[in-house]
Amino acid sequence: MSELEAALSIARAATEEARTADARLRDALEILPQGIVFLDSEGRYVLWNEQYAKIYHRTADLFNVGVKLADTLRVGVMRGDYPDAKGREEEWIAERLQKLKRPSERHEQWLSDGRCILIDERATADGGVIGLRIDITELKEREASFRLLFEANPVPMFVVARNTNTILSVNAAARDHYLYPGDQLIGRNVHSLHPGEDHPQIDMLYSPAPGRLAERTWRHLKQDGTEIEVALFSQAIVHDRTPALLVAAVDITERRRAEAQAAYLSRHDPLTGLANRARHLEQVSEMLAADHGGASLCIGLDNFKSVNETMGPIAGDLLLQAVARRIRNTLRAGSTAARVGGDEFGVILPGAVNPEEINSVALRLISAISAPYMIQGQHATIGASIGIAIAPQDGDEASQLLKNANLALSQTKLTHKGAFRYFEEEMHARAQGRRRLEQDLRIAIERDGLAVHYQPLISLSTGRIVAAEALVRWSHGERGFIPPQEFIPLAEEAGLIWQLGRTVLRRACRDATAWPQDVSVAVNLSPMQFRCGNVFELVKETLEATGLAPDRLEVEITESLFLERSNLVLDALADLRELGVCIAMDDFGTGYSALGYLTSFPFDKIKIDRSFVSGIETHVEKQAVVRAIVGLGETLGKKTVAEGIETADELACLRMIGCEQGQGYLFSKARPQEALLPFIGKRKPRRVA
Ligand code: C2E
Ligand code: CA
Ligand code: CA
Repeated sequence: MSELEAALSIARAATEEARTADARLRDALEILPQGIVFLDSEGRYVLWNEQYAKIYHRTADLFNVGVKLADTLRVGVMRGDYPDAKGREEEWIAERLQKLKRPSERHEQWLSDGRCILIDERATADGGVIGLRIDITELKEREASFRLLFEANPVPMFVVARNTNTILSVNAAARDHYLYPGDQLIGRNVHSLHPGEDHPQIDMLYSPAPGRLAERTWRHLKQDGTEIEVALFSQAIVHDRTPALLVAAVDITERRRAEAQAAYLSRHDPLTGLANRARHLEQVSEMLAADHGGASLCIGLDNFKSVNETMGPIAGDLLLQAVARRIRNTLRAGSTAARVGGDEFGVILPGAVNPEEINSVALRLISAISAPYMIQGQHATIGASIGIAIAPQDGDEASQLLKNANLALSQTKLTHKGAFRYFEEEMHARAQGRRRLEQDLRIAIERDGLAVHYQPLISLSTGRIVAAEALVRWSHGERGFIPPQEFIPLAEEAGLIWQLGRTVLRRACRDATAWPQDVSVAVNLSPMQFRCGNVFELVKETLEATGLAPDRLEVEITESLFLERSNLVLDALADLRELGVCIAMDDFGTGYSALGYLTSFPFDKIKIDRSFVSGIETHVEKQAVVRAIVGLGETLGKKTVAEGIETADELACLRMIGCEQGQGYLFSKARPQEALLPFIGKRKPRRVA
């Protein structure tokens, strides 16, 4: 082989090797995910990979070895490939070429197809440039959406450096909500947002496993010192290469306030501000749980319903508020009051086991509630009855204790209105008995099982029978005779009084038509009858139906009727009088006896209560009272009747005082119609000496 041949062969081998190396390099370049370009010292294309051509696909047709990048750039600018160049094309190209000449800084380049390219260029040993192109469009998008989420978020947000707790960034909501304009929050220690007392726990707050913050709420301070309650949510992030926490602060102050308000409303009576029934039950449970005993008082208002009806619901509400105030003012610290029903209140005295103490509270409550009220310029009077149950013996469960206090209240209302009573085990049986009796009474009324007896009223001057009082009688199949004092209140409560009263009135009027013309009939009317129906219409219709002359009918009412100060009642009485019916005031002297109403209310007759009559002949005070009443009657032009005369001495004394009429066992008990007629006939008028 010649030398030349040898040299050629070496050269061929070297070329082959170089070609192989070049092919390897190209292969290597092609598998890189980034775009790569080699430029020579004149800025001409030497080598580039497929990825590079793809990124700049809009000018890739111009790429050729030896072509200047400056030229393809210019064409690209003309074609509008670089949105940033728009309007300042020459300037932009100059800047770009400047960077190419002094490659070192990374920079970003936006392309017209919306992608963002990170450019990283280095100088090579031969004066050329090697350039890297990375498509960072997705990253850019993520960043943009983060910034949007952060900056435009309505929830205040902070970026806090984890090592220093310094606030690195805040959004507009944080600036607005915390009242720090501009950059005033930046650089602050995030601890300064917390009131001093929170500091011990803050370390755990800003260095936690992210997400743990939501378990509790924190207090934050605004710039003006107002405190807010916030729920904090955090996420670890890297902010400008600094480990940081992204903290969102949700202000729940308002929500808490609303929750507190709702909680308050759900446990209190909106009218009086006292605890409501549900809260009362809780309080009783708490008292029982404390295990120191205590008393549960159930307070019922007497006469409230009629005041409410006559004065109107607004006055009724004002009255209830006044009652609540008085109850509250009567109680000592530690005791609690509640409104548990329309006109029912509950009081608990935790730890009170001494009966004297409980009695004194009950008495104070009754007298406080019973004192007169001034409502909308009008006087109003109501009473209070109280039932008391003692824990734990009357109930070791709240509902049981309350039920028993309530039962004691019902019994008090029946027998001792205006007083208090303790619960007794027998009350259950009694209440049950009452329910049965009520049922029997209903049947008796419906099936005409009631009788009416008549007790004569005698003229004390002539001895003649001037009238007879109709008294209802009930003979119970099993229990025998039941006194009206027992079943009249029952009828009132069970809503049977209207029916009962109508029956008695009709019977009395019909029976009286058989009596001598100068004998009247007296019928008792319950105040409840005035409340649940039109008494005037009833009387008028009954007189018409039976044919009894109106001036032969007397209706007996009690003072309690006037307590209501109802125009309805007054009108009915005035209309009855107009018709010719006589109105008699029953049981005079036992009631609330405001002498004032004697002059202002329409009635014709005063029936002096039995309690002033019995034993009057030896009792000077009773004589004085009866004398005063008789004198009053004479002055006002009202007749006077003494009730319950049992002895001749009483009769003599009453005659002496000058009482006009009398009634009592001395003359006759109430007797049935058949027995009354002979009695009237037998009883001849006689002169009194
Ligand atoms: P009241 O209207 O005061 O009736 C008088 C009561 O005294 C009657 O009792 C009568 O029997 C009784 N009494 C009469 N004389 C004497 C006496 O000399 N000594 C004694 N110790 N008592 C005497 P009664 O019949 O038991 O009625 C009691 C109450 O029941 C009545 O008191 C009245 O308030 C009510 N009442 C009776 N019948 C009716 C009625 O038809 N309708 C209404 N609403 N109430 C009635
Ligand atoms: Ca009567
Ligand atoms: Ca009476």
